Formats: sequence, C-alpha cells, structure tokens
Amino acid sequence: MFLLSVPPRSMLLLCVAGLVFFAVAAGLAFSTAGQNSVPFLEADGGGVSPVEEPRDDITEEQRKLIESDIERNVKWLSGAGKIGPSSPEVVQFAWPVQKSDGGPGFSVDAISNYLDQAPPGQLLDWNCGMRTYDGHKGIDIYTWPFTWNLMDSGSVEVVAGAPGTIVGKFDGNYDRSCAMNNSMWNAVYVRHSDGSIAWYGHLKNGSVTTKSIGETVSMGEKLGLVGSSGNSTGPHLHFEVHTETNQLRDPFQGACNTINAESWWIQQEPNRVSRINRLMTHSAPPSFNTCPQPETSNEKSTFRPGESFRAAAYYRDQLQGHQTQYSILRPDGSVLQSWSHQSPNTYSSSYWFWTVNIPTFGPGGTWKFTALYNGQMYEQTFAVDPDVSISGRAVDPNGRGISRASISMTSPQGVTISVITSTAGYYVFQSVPFGEVRTIRASSKRYRFMPREVTLSNDLTDVDFTGIE
Ligand SMILES: [Zn+2]
Repeated sequence: MFLLSVPPRSMLLLCVAGLVFFAVAAGLAFSTAGQNSVPFLEADGGGVSPVEEPRDDITEEQRKLIESDIERNVKWLSGAGKIGPSSPEVVQFAWPVQKSDGGPGFSVDAISNYLDQAPPGQLLDWNCGMRTYDGHKGIDIYTWPFTWNLMDSGSVEVVAGAPGTIVGKFDGNYDRSCAMNNSMWNAVYVRHSDGSIAWYGHLKNGSVTTKSIGETVSMGEKLGLVGSSGNSTGPHLHFEVHTETNQLRDPFQGACNTINAESWWIQQEPNRVSRINRLMTHSAPPSFNTCPQPETSNEKSTFRPGESFRAAAYYRDQLQGHQTQYSILRPDGSVLQSWSHQSPNTYSSSYWFWTVNIPTFGPGGTWKFTALYNGQMYEQTFAVDPDVSISGRAVDPNGRGISRASISMTSPQGVTISVITSTAGYYVFQSVPFGEVRTIRASSKRYRFMPREVTLSNDLTDVDFTGIE
C-alpha cells in the first residue's frame, strides 16, 4: 500500500508544481503588463542621501589605549574568576543595530563602509568591492533616513551581536562629531566565550549600558544608542571584531575576505540589502541641515481636501534600474493615482519624492501611500480631514462674556444652524465641511453684533463678536 501510494502522490505534486509554475508565470506576465500601464513619473526631487555617508578613524594611539584597557580588564576579570578559560566555539553574530520600540518607519540603518582588506593605499571589501576606505578595520552602520533626528530620538539601538562579558566601556564623550577630531569615543567591548572581542563604538553620550565591566550581556541586549562620538563624521556604529590573540577579523564571508574563511554572522546579509527604510508624507521637501544640526523633515500626516503634499520614499541600497511602483489609495482602497520610478543609479542610501494633490472633494478618512519595491509591499497611512471647527466668544463692550447669546451659521445654500454661548460667552461649531464660506451672526437680548463672513480653510478659533449697545 505504501509503495502504491507513492506514484500518485508524486504525480499530484508534479501537477501542483506545474500549476504553481503556471500561476507564477501568469502572475509575472500580469504584473509586468500592470507595471507597463503605470506611468513613469520623474521625481520632483531626491537622489543620493545629502548626508555624507559617515566614516571614522581610530588613531594608533587610541587603538593602543583601547587594547591595553581591554587587556588589563581581561586579566583582572580572569583573576577574579569572572571570565573562564575560552572555549573554541564559533561565535555568530546577530545584526548589532536595531530600531527601538516605537521608532519610526520600517528600518533605520544602512551600511557606509566595510572592513578594508587591501594593503595601504588600496581599497577592497569582502565582496571584492570598494565599500570601505583606506585602513578601515570595522563595519560602519549608519542611521537613515534623518540621521541626526534618529540619533536624537534614540531610535537606533546598538545591541550585543553575541552574548558575552563586558570587558571595557566608556561614556561621557561629546557625541556630535562631524569631522575627525582625535577625541575618544563612547564604546562597549564585549568578550565572547571563545575569547574574541567585539568593539561597539561612537555611541551616543549618556546612552552606554549601566552594566559594569565583568557583567554579562545576552545576544540582542541593548548596549547603547548610535551616536557620533570620537573620530566620526556622523552618527553610526563602528563594529569591529578581534580574536583572543587580538587578530582582526572580518565577520563577512566572501571571495575577497583573505583574513578569515568563515562567516561570523548567524545569517549573513548580502552585500546589498535593497529595501525601503521609510515612506513619509511631507508638507514640503525635507531639508538636510549642516552637520550636526538635526534635519527638518517637514513631516505631515493630516491634510485638507484640495491640499498638496509630498510623498517620499527612503531607500537602503537602491540599485540602478530598480523599479518601484507607488500608489495613493483612497479610504475605500480605490486608486487615486499610481506611478512608477526607475532608479537612475546605485546608492547606499537614497530618497525620492513626488507631489500629490488631494481632490477638493476629498473624501475624508484614512488614505494610504504604498510602494511595491523588490518584491515587498510597503505602506504608510495619512489622513484627509474634511471637517473644520469654528469657535469664538461673544463679549460686551467691556470685554465680558455674554452668556446665552445665540450664534447662527448660514451656508451659501441658506441652511442655518444655531448654538447658544456658554456662561463665559464661548461657542463652537464642530464638523463643518472644509472649504466653504459661512456667514456667522450673533444676537442677544441687549446687544447688536456685526455679522462675520468666514472661509473655512482651517479650524477657526477666534471668530469673536463684540456687542454694540
Ligand atoms: Zn568605522
């Protein structure tokens, strides 16, 4: 029975595989046709990240200082029995940077530099590329988009790539470096079970873990926040690995890694991780200010009918020719507009933005800005609020509130609604349709008032009436 059951199952699987293949092929054909029908739209602006990709330097003197500190601490901790003899396990790292709980967007980091494998004067990274600079001994992972804002909001955490014991740390150094300045960084050094040590440098001032030297940390435990302390041109983590005998290691396995054969990652990321880090809606294009000033994002997420805004996408590792298909969806899911874009170049971090016009008739509700990129759908909601409120006060000639005055509001079509003022003379009309013109009148037993005509282009809070005897 068992043997007999094998052929039908195999055939069934073949059939299913055939159907899946057919469906995938059909789906591809369909989506290609769909993409062709979406107009290509040149961006209103964007391109390469205007923020210089951060880099750093550790001077020979600083390096000696760090190494002798670590050596002394390791000796002391070994003597005190706080770290045992090393075991020849293979240490494997998780990614040492993560978005904090509640941090903005989908992802918050990109890579500016790998370790330089080449002799002095030449550049070569593990992948046989040149994403490095001369003599760089670690990996630089920077914050993107809104480099400084992410640092200031503490949205990018440095976490232990592997469990171990803290064998050195420093906090208290200035953390808004924009250039090489020979100052020391804030950092944590973690020794693993095999005796190897990971350096986590450039941390934000005051963010370094309160755990003491000799205490253990687990994989993924927060060690601090990304900053720009020490010799650094902008917020980033410098991650560097040494063996027990202080031999430098490159955690990435690759054809041009001639230092070590094995990968030190649990799951090694490819050279390029093409993704959207964030979708945003803005009142105006973002401005990237002079280092170390925070960026002015001009983020805005609630709009009026008829208002224009900028829809922007922020990428990590967007490659030349990469297509993105964008859509603006109304609250009912129908498409207001769709367009596509092709990356003109290859970038470590890039962004593009377009102008979107919300129709004058809305509708109000929760809208979506979506992007289909590299097989992944991203979406960001924004609100269209079609209602305004009108409020104000009726006062007598001496500025005292008039209670129980009648305030009436008449639409262009002649529809009138009324409210009565409070004890202190205040009134409010809620949920009035945006964009129209209203005539507002006040009346009371004792006073006369001049009528007012208002255009409902925004919430109005001081539509006041002063009584005339
Ligand atoms: Zn570095």
